[in-house]
Amino acid sequence: MDTAHNGQDKRSADPAAVEMLRIADREGYATIWERFEKQQPQCSYGQLGTCCRICSMGPCRIDPFGEGPTRGVCGATADTIVARNLARMAAVGSSSHSDHGRKVALLLKAVADGTNTDYHISDPEKLLAVAARLGIPTTGRSLLEVAGDVAAVAIDCFGNQGEEPIVFMEKYMPKKRFQRLKDLEETLYKTTGARTGFLPRAIDREAVDILHRTHFGCDHDPLSLVAQSVRCSLSDGWGGSLIATELQDILLGTPTIKAVKANLGVLEAESVNVVVHGHEPILSAKVVEMALSEECRRAAEAVGARRVVRLDTGHNMARSAPVELAALLDEIAADPR
Ligand code: SF4
Repeated sequence: MDTAHNGQDKRSADPAAVEMLRIADREGYATIWERFEKQQPQCSYGQLGTCCRICSMGPCRIDPFGEGPTRGVCGATADTIVARNLARMAAVGSSSHSDHGRKVALLLKAVADGTNTDYHISDPEKLLAVAARLGIPTTGRSLLEVAGDVAAVAIDCFGNQGEEPIVFMEKYMPKKRFQRLKDLEETLYKTTGARTGFLPRAIDREAVDILHRTHFGCDHDPLSLVAQSVRCSLSDGWGGSLIATELQDILLGTPTIKAVKANLGVLEAESVNVVVHGHEPILSAKVVEMALSEECRRAAEAVGARRVVRLDTGHNMARSAPVELAALLDEIAADPR
């Protein structure tokens, strides 16, 4: 495998990662880099986004140099196919982030109504700050009552069926930017005669809207497809991801800047190393809590280990847990041999 660049292994700038990757090469252990090399050269239609397999009349592909057909079976041009593919990528990315936020919102609701007693309001000040921002009354009310209302507003942002912009976006986005998006909608209406929305109405809805309109026979206009991609992306950035961050702070504690150990050197041969891959911290926060507990320390010592070390790339940096630097290294950290 070609890994050298100017005499240095180009796969990572981190010497510990390079050392482990060389061991993996020597022992024939598959890694993301090795699999990437085996995929070369990658499909150039795929790289340009001009192939489509959205419906069963396909797959279709358009040569960008003008050779062969210029339209798919349904009549889609290269621009339409690229815009549809881009929109579907936006829907997938937004859904991945936002579904994370949904789980946190449902957990906050469960904590508030007492059906989950494993998690707690760890940062009451943050809860009150979020409630104030959302316009939820806090005076004379218990923390759990306020938390229930915050959770309800967040959950509504996912499934609201109205036409108004999602509440989290309206309350958090700078007013000037919010107005600019509204103005853009009006300008496009005046110049094209078509209603083009940029302000998301509900997080789930904008992703479903993309799946709907990118099906053949629905929307073939690259402009409206790209506009919907923006709308769906905003529903993630000012909706799902924002909800995840704010409500995690309430439940797990607001992170502060701390120094942590990072890279594969955090693996300890004489300790129990627990490596978890993923970006949702709800479960992993509990794993960190358990790894730091007296009970786990005693269990590790009973089998001759120094301690339990819990490693990953996510929220646990906030708790000063060591991290092995990047998700790409998880598979090596899990089985370095
Ligand atoms: S949607 Fe159109 S371009 Fe895509 S596979 Fe079907 S017929 Fe081909």
